[in-house]
Amino acid sequence: QTTALTTRSPLCSSASCITHKCLIMSPRPPETCSEQYAPCRSQRLLVQGGLISPAAPGCYHYLPAAVRALEKLVALVDGAMRAAGGQKLSMPCLSAAEAWRASGRWERMGAELFRLADRHGKGYCLAPTHEEAVTELLAAQSNLSYRQLPLRLYQVTRKFRDEPKPRLGLLRGREFHMKDMYTFDASAEAARRSYELVCDAYGRLFRALGLRVVRVQADAGAIGGTVSHEFQLPAEVGEDRLALCPAGHFAANAETISAEQAACPTCGEPLTRTRGIEVGHTFYLGTKYSSVFNATFCTAENKLQLAEMGCYGLGVTRILAAAVEVLSTEDSIRWPSLIAPYQVCFIPPKKGSREEKGAALLERLYDDVAEAAPQLAGDLVLDDRTQLTIGKRLKDADRLGYPYVIIAGKKACGDPAVFEVWSQNAGEVTFLTREGVIDLL
Ligand code: ATP
Ligand code: MG
Ligand code: MG
Ligand code: MG
Repeated sequence: QTTALTTRSPLCSSASCITHKCLIMSPRPPETCSEQYAPCRSQRLLVQGGLISPAAPGCYHYLPAAVRALEKLVALVDGAMRAAGGQKLSMPCLSAAEAWRASGRWERMGAELFRLADRHGKGYCLAPTHEEAVTELLAAQSNLSYRQLPLRLYQVTRKFRDEPKPRLGLLRGREFHMKDMYTFDASAEAARRSYELVCDAYGRLFRALGLRVVRVQADAGAIGGTVSHEFQLPAEVGEDRLALCPAGHFAANAETISAEQAACPTCGEPLTRTRGIEVGHTFYLGTKYSSVFNATFCTAENKLQLAEMGCYGLGVTRILAAAVEVLSTEDSIRWPSLIAPYQVCFIPPKKGSREEKGAALLERLYDDVAEAAPQLAGDLVLDDRTQLTIGKRLKDADRLGYPYVIIAGKKACGDPAVFEVWSQNAGEVTFLTREGVIDLL
């Protein structure tokens, strides 16, 4: 039994389930969960479930379960970026004003830029994005050779934007996590290959998450450049308007097309209008930034040439909330399985109930699953708050969102013992023996 104890102890003490202590810990003043305060589902569910807690307008504390989901999402993003030839780095959030003046964005960003000064009066901003920083970084590397290109650098860091209307929880924060990649290539043609590679990686990432994200033609906005696409998740609460060809030939952010162009340019079908959440944005930049900072490389002919750039954002915390927004029901959180904070919740019977003897069998099942699927070990929760009814704990499980909930009810006392398995994402309840559960997980 020693191994069983070690697998269980990181999550649950015998006194009470740590995961649920954390739920109780989070302050949930009722008004912060109300429709009026939280007009969208993801915000309401994440606050109610004790995943996030409001700190200041557009700023949230990420509580332990949310950090687990976030770290899983970042690991998936890392995998996608590595597959696209990316190397991870980390640049400062504090960014000197000079670079922003040089690019013209110190003025152009207007009130969205959080500005501050150091004790000597030198100007800074809290970086909302990093084109200036990364291009200066490249320009500072002397003797960069064409042989070192393409360079595809990315980071996952907090970004700061003084949004006029921070709202909808993590969907529009003033401090949020973004994955931003910057590519440097030797020619426009090579830069377009980098562009397609990163876009394909985004497509695979969203498919793995089970999110039906569409790539739409977009406006390059304040970032600039000539070619640009957004990755949009169709949803009612989305703040962007999309125009989509029903046969899939054409997709655009409606702001890029004139009002009369109401038909698909390829097949002539009338375009469908929907709202979308912008979860990613890619830009082909050309030499827009490399020319400002003189980011050059040495060609095969030993000449200096400006690097061709691209930049690629993913709203990491926005994706987290957007997934909850589109997958959840009114009162139960549903996550893409790959990023659920925990995978399985085991609920033993209430102490003193007629089914009590199922508790030992369920604990054994927990240990067997942990042993049979070691990769799941940290993802299993035994809700041993047996002073509470199964129903009460099931409700809590819905507030956190587990892909699987396994209950020892009446049938767990039979021979053989049969457990109630709720597959939350499929919306199914099945009755399985110990072997059946192990096979399933
Ligand atoms: P939006 O149009 O929603 O304001 P944006 O076009 O200003 O977004 P980009 O500069 O393209 O944003 O940034 C890259 C990505 O960062 C966006 O596609 C989005 O997923 C995410 N993002 C941008 N602003 C926010 C925010 N305030 N809160 C959370 N995520 C954000
Ligand atoms: Mg914006
Ligand atoms: Mg936008
Ligand atoms: Mg954008």
